[in-house]
Amino acid sequence: MTKDNNSTDSAGFAPETPSAPQVTGIAIEDAVLTTVPFSELGETLPTGVFHEGQRLHSYTLAPFTGDLEVMLEELFQSKKQGADKVYSTLRQFLPTAIRDIGGISLHKLDSDPRRLIDRMDLGDVFSMVLGLRCAYHGKGDIAISGQCPNCNTRNADQGDYNQPYHDLGTVDVKCYQHLPQEPLFDIVLEDGFTVTGEHITKVRMRPLKFYQLKTMGDPNSGKFPNLNMISAMMHSFPESQSYQSPKGDFFDKKLYSRLINSPRDKKAVFDAMEKLQPGPVMQIDMDCINCSYQWKEGIPWGQLPSFLYGPISPVRS
Ligand SMILES: [Zn+2]
Repeated sequence: MTKDNNSTDSAGFAPETPSAPQVTGIAIEDAVLTTVPFSELGETLPTGVFHEGQRLHSYTLAPFTGDLEVMLEELFQSKKQGADKVYSTLRQFLPTAIRDIGGISLHKLDSDPRRLIDRMDLGDVFSMVLGLRCAYHGKGDIAISGQCPNCNTRNADQGDYNQPYHDLGTVDVKCYQHLPQEPLFDIVLEDGFTVTGEHITKVRMRPLKFYQLKTMGDPNSGKFPNLNMISAMMHSFPESQSYQSPKGDFFDKKLYSRLINSPRDKKAVFDAMEKLQPGPVMQIDMDCINCSYQWKEGIPWGQLPSFLYGPISPVRS
């Protein structure tokens, strides 16, 4: 046994050959995301799971049962707080609530389905949460409340003619139309930057993964928001010797400050970051009952039990 045998799920199978699969990137110019309303998306994932060279991007929900609601309530009673609580609840709940992805059970996709949920795109997980909510309520109705930024009138859906419920089916979802491989995108830098003697002119980025929900929602991560986001989405520098397959959050303050030395490189990377966020926006269009001003209000999905199983009008966090 070699000391680097860190596989935990290869029981019964031959160990993987050391030759790593050829990882390639898609030119950022070829990344095409289209926006569709959630009602048209149905049980389809904006990115999907890549399995044996195939993109699995449909999913099936387990039927509504009392057991599932009890399970969710119990998971959500953890002492954890905020994003950490939502993260740990969903990664345990979804393997039971989702029957299959692309017709394949989650256990067949990964012997520990929590790992599968972890490495799915955050937007795919958001999409499944909306799908569960619509299925459990039979439709997308949701009561949203919020204060008009223009006239300060409090808008609160009552489900009547004057203040009808909002429809989650109207939420915009950004989806990859064609995706020939895992979503890794190469951005060519016009100026580039130098680190450990190498001049970096190409960076590879990817959409946020579900497991990153925790760090993205943690204000104590010690990073400022721009660096936090860019570090979470930076995959590698594909033409570099030192950063071809780096581990973890390698994109630190030093690399960030060198990258942003060039305003046009900074813009290219920030534009890519903006572009490469598949999934539902998790906001809904508001239209003030008093002055008709339009704005967007967040969907109160973070209170998972009340969002998925509660009445149409959820308890606001
Ligand atoms: Zn108003």
